[in-house]
Amino acid sequence: MGSRKPSRRLDELSSAIFTEMAQRKREVAQKRDVIDLGIGSPDQPPAPHLIAALSEAVQRPDVYGYPGSEGSGAFRQEVAAWYQHRFGVGLNPEREVHALMGSQDGLAHFGMAWVDPGDIVLVPDPGYPIYAGSVHLAGAELYPLPLRADRGFLPDLVSIPVEICRRAKFMILNFPSNPVSAVAPLSFFDEVVAFAKQHDIIVVHDLAYSEMAFDGYRPPSFLQADGAMDVGIEFNSFSKSFNMAGCRIAYVVGNAEIIKPLAIVKSNVDYGVFAAVQEMAIAALRADRTGLVANPTSSLYQERRDRFLAALARIGWDIEPPKATMFVWAPVPPGWSSREFAFALLEEAGVVVIPGNAFGSEGEGYVRIALVQDSEILEEAARRIADSGILGRKQNQV
Ligand SMILES: *Cc1c(COP(=O)(O)O)cnc(C)c1O
Repeated sequence: MGSRKPSRRLDELSSAIFTEMAQRKREVAQKRDVIDLGIGSPDQPPAPHLIAALSEAVQRPDVYGYPGSEGSGAFRQEVAAWYQHRFGVGLNPEREVHALMGSQDGLAHFGMAWVDPGDIVLVPDPGYPIYAGSVHLAGAELYPLPLRADRGFLPDLVSIPVEICRRAKFMILNFPSNPVSAVAPLSFFDEVVAFAKQHDIIVVHDLAYSEMAFDGYRPPSFLQADGAMDVGIEFNSFSKSFNMAGCRIAYVVGNAEIIKPLAIVKSNVDYGVFAAVQEMAIAALRADRTGLVANPTSSLYQERRDRFLAALARIGWDIEPPKATMFVWAPVPPGWSSREFAFALLEEAGVVVIPGNAFGSEGEGYVRIALVQDSEILEEAARRIADSGILGRKQNQV
């Protein structure tokens, strides 16, 4: 009894809202110019010294074999050296560092490595889509951790029912976070370690925005918390920190026993990151660690944040400035749903943003705006929003 129905896993995988937004965007773009602040992909190229390192590496005849999924010794040593320099965290490059083809790769495969049907995973809501995706792909269940403004978008660990804690195998955290652009103090990570030890739950921290923070703020590593190495791992990526999203390189660090099952899955599904790309990544960390080249990422996004939020404030839309990430998590004006407001911005102002509930039901009442255009274009987006008259519309009706 053959049938062409794809696996049930797929039903849970994609958010209908993303698909619908993309479709409407294509339709509107045929009629007018559209400013896309929806995508979470950096618009800048890597620094010249990184492109040079890649160009040099591709000339070498020895980089074209299967690289091996754990990453080269030199790559893992450089990651360990950078973690020591940046966070004061000591790592064993052999056992506590593993290369990834993007954090996405690590996150997508971590569920398969660790959970079975019947297990529970604690997932932030709203959260980056692959967190829930990883749980669905593994056939496990997720329990959402609401991130709400009144708690500074930190999950309330105490409110998780004991029965859920008993069945939970791991929890995912992400600070600075996408989409809510919130940050967590080290004291929160201390609380997480105590919670994880009490309930024997693995902690998976996604630190994709460690190098994209503003006003002198430097996001901590989860592994800086006392005892974190006993309970957790951390993903970090070159995509946002060094504008290398297309290069597909990242890594996981932390507890060796937690990394090992992920390494086994990966050694069966891929053969590693192109060796020339690993050389480029080594150059990025080394230049940053030795202070050879200043990383311009934070100052660029800080300027965009400041100019865009100033322009929005002038037209009456006041938004709390984020301390990190390339996202503005903006409350929608009274009277609108996230979805209605995002579609109105698209149709009437030609500005693409993502409705907050695309990232989970707790995202209702917000839209995510990505600062992935030059400041002038962001200011133009604010002008178009003002001209559309959307902001004042419902307030006048109420
Ligand atoms: C962009 C992003 C990633 C993606 O990382 P890759 O290394 O490019 O796969 C992971 N986590 C979050 C929260 C992100 O925003």
